[in-house]
Amino acid sequence: MTEKRIDGKAFAARLRERIGERAAEFAAKAGRKPGLAVVLVGEDPASHVYVRNKHKATVEAGMESFEHRLPAETSQDALLDLVEQLNLDDKVDGILVQLPLPDHLDEQSVIAAIAPDKDVDGFHVVNAGRLATGGEGFVPCTPYGCIMLLKDRLGDLSGKDAVVIGRSNIVGKPMAQLLLNENATVTIAHSRTKDLPEVVRRADIVVAAVGRAEMVKGDWIKPGAVVIDVGINRIERGEGEKARLVGDVDYAGAEENASAITPVPGGVGPMTIAVLLRNTLVAAHRREGLAFEE
Ligand code: NDP
Repeated sequence: MTEKRIDGKAFAARLRERIGERAAEFAAKAGRKPGLAVVLVGEDPASHVYVRNKHKATVEAGMESFEHRLPAETSQDALLDLVEQLNLDDKVDGILVQLPLPDHLDEQSVIAAIAPDKDVDGFHVVNAGRLATGGEGFVPCTPYGCIMLLKDRLGDLSGKDAVVIGRSNIVGKPMAQLLLNENATVTIAHSRTKDLPEVVRRADIVVAAVGRAEMVKGDWIKPGAVVIDVGINRIERGEGEKARLVGDVDYAGAEENASAITPVPGGVGPMTIAVLLRNTLVAAHRREGLAFEE
């Protein structure tokens, strides 16, 4: 019997290994490595950890990592100038501006300044539009990672009833769009949804992207449903003890009814960086006019 627990960590490790092989093939053909530029403004500790992890994974996959760490007081103009430089730099295939930015900077206009064909985070409106209308663009990394895990477990998603809880631009909405593109019947739930437990009980696929610790209860899950838990919530413990990470789903309860479920940590989380590397590799292939096969 297949294990209920979906091991995103192992899946992501395999994906990164494959990307490493493809990156080496790309370098042999193009005479250069794929390149990812990451821009970090300010001192947010969590962002520093993410950027360090991205750098490490990029180098491990045989890609070039260009890090730009800017002081918190960086002006909007200086940041836009850097983005423009990176847009024009031939060695850079992907650009990622780590969010959140300090309050005095306007995230939307910074994202809008990134060349859509280098927007490996998939946040640019052009890429959101391409996802919605069927064009070739970039999809935000976390929902793309979720769809990879779902297809790996379920194969064809056609006709499945899917409920996505959360409607953010970076997770919920692109997730719903991806499921729709796979011919699922999609419901998007949010904070104004009436009787959320009943809505979730109809679903063959539940994706929770809310940011509320263990909000989705085990008895909301239809027997046999597949549960993807995007949430990352820190539960502080006593002094000197490390915080515990939990998802948006009560794992122990949901596992009883679900046919498959992602844990937190070790489920969706590790997929995000792997997909970022994948998107960078795709960008590099497109920029060099080379075919990319998944
Ligand atoms: P947002 O805060 O942007 O969005 C949360 C969504 O949840 C909103 O659409 C909100 O509804 C909805 N919501 C809030 N409360 C309820 C409720 N009681 N019932 C139903 N819906 C509710 O969060 P993100 O989408 O950015 O992230 C969601 C979670 O995923 C977070 O825990 C985050 O840490 C995690 N995450 C994990 C990533 C990874 O694994 N790498 C990457 C990105 C995020 P409304 O729109 O009505 O306010």
